[in-house]
Amino acid sequence: MYNMDHSAPMRDVNPTTLAELVKASYLKCPLTPPSPGCSYSGRNLDKTTDMTQEIRCAEHGTVAELNVYFERLQHTQKMKQIIVVGTVAMALLIILGTIFWGSTSRRKPDEQTDGNAA
Ligand SMILES: [Zn+2]
Repeated sequence: MYNMDHSAPMRDVNPTTLAELVKASYLKCPLTPPSPGCSYSGRNLDKTTDMTQEIRCAEHGTVAELNVYFERLQHTQKMKQIIVVGTVAMALLIILGTIFWGSTSRRKPDEQTDGNAA
């Protein structure tokens, strides 16, 4: 939008150009970064044919890097879910086994005692 309205295109993202976007009302207010270490930068961004030109956060990296991070996180969460479900299933089987096997093995001495007593 800015570059459509101005003959000198904005090519870089840095504190100065971000302030200019606020001053010229292209941004309603300064960006509120999620972390204190966040600082946004990008260079030669008007070269739209070169997809390697990206805006980068000093702390979190590029959007592509964040996507890779979240894909890995999702995979890790799936693995955690499988481990949790597997553990719960094993625990239930052990409890069920203990209830049934334990109860029958406890009865045997009682039955034997009863048998001996009778
Ligand atoms: Zn950040």
